[in-house]
Amino acid sequence: MRPISYSRATDTATAVAAVSADPTSDFLAGGTTEIDLLRQNILHPRRLVDINSLPLTGIATTPEGGLSIGALARMSEVAAEPVVRERFPMICQALELGASAQLRHMASMGGNLLQRVRCSYYRDAESPCNKREPDTGCSAIDGFSRGHAVLGTSEHCIATHPSDVAVALMALDARVHTLGPRGERAYAFDDFFLLPRDSPHREHPMEHGELITAIEVPATPVARHSLYLKVRDRESYEFALASVAAALSVVDGTIADVRVALGGLATKPWRARRVEDFLIGAPANRVNFDQAARVELADARTTPMNAFKVELARRAVVRALETLSGDGSESPA
Ligand SMILES: Cc1cc2nc3c(=O)[nH]c(=O)nc-3n(C[C@H](O)[C@H](O)[C@H](O)COP(=O)(O)OP(=O)(O)OC[C@H]3O[C@@H](n4cnc5c(N)ncnc54)[C@H](O)[C@@H]3O)c2cc1C
Ligand code: SF4
Repeated sequence: MRPISYSRATDTATAVAAVSADPTSDFLAGGTTEIDLLRQNILHPRRLVDINSLPLTGIATTPEGGLSIGALARMSEVAAEPVVRERFPMICQALELGASAQLRHMASMGGNLLQRVRCSYYRDAESPCNKREPDTGCSAIDGFSRGHAVLGTSEHCIATHPSDVAVALMALDARVHTLGPRGERAYAFDDFFLLPRDSPHREHPMEHGELITAIEVPATPVARHSLYLKVRDRESYEFALASVAAALSVVDGTIADVRVALGGLATKPWRARRVEDFLIGAPANRVNFDQAARVELADARTTPMNAFKVELARRAVVRALETLSGDGSESPA
């Protein structure tokens, strides 16, 4: 038995001070990741600072038409918010296709961004895993890797980032606001998630004790016409094998604006900038959607078990963009 001390913070400054003063402490939000991993003997905090009483639950619109989502807003609350449904359907769909209704009521938005990988070796304390224990090796590369990443991998880790809503937020250029021991900071979403490179245990640039306070989503007119497509082994309560967050604006048959990000395929929520660059100004048709997807996936690195994901991803991108453009009712995926 390991004793764990528990305290409930009532203001953000106290929460940050408590966790940053003690390297063995963690924040506790909904607990759907933290408590799971504590029980599995993967995380070993000696102290939990419960942040659920902090005033970080609001979901507000900005004067420009964007959103500010409190870090403690629950996934289900954000998904149900009418303004989010109207202006950012991809966010609602990504949330509703994640986890289960019960989990979504508990799980916070800040915690969602910081959830841990679903690699089974990471969650098995007996297996070598560079992410859990640096320099011990990666069991997945020559092991069971069917669900693992094909983009953004390194020779040290190929685990897929598991979040759905982070994929939609990546497509929308969201920003993560924090309060840390050295004050407030804001991170561009792409900078907030680190590639594994040679230090897969470092997943975020935050320092210990830094608290996510809010997620800012800028006004993005194209997002009104957006969707989140999630392909998985079963239709509910399952992580993505491949997913696509896409928004599309077509004027007179030509693509005027497009956003695409990929999930279930990369070591971080993956902004598909090559798809976007290929498609801007191009005719909106299946041939171009297909070619754009191929360009994005050209650098994919696969294992014998996950090679199928490249074709799956190509089809998912085409299907998402065809659905939004209304070009082609047949689904190739
Ligand atoms: C069975 C199951 C299925 C799931 N399926 C999906 C799915 O399909 N798609 C998906 O996207 N997710 C899925 N999830 C993950 C789930 O969405 C996350 O566990 C949840 O969002 C985490 O939020 P939480 O509030 O419970 O975080 P917690 O578990 O409380 O915390 C998670 C981590 O973040 C830290 N933390 C929490 N809040 C903050 C903050 N504000 N600032 C700094 N650090 C913080 C904690 O210290 C901890 O390390 C699933 C989870 C389970 C258990
Ligand atoms: S893929 Fe990453 S998380 Fe999985 S065993 Fe390898 S190092 Fe660990």
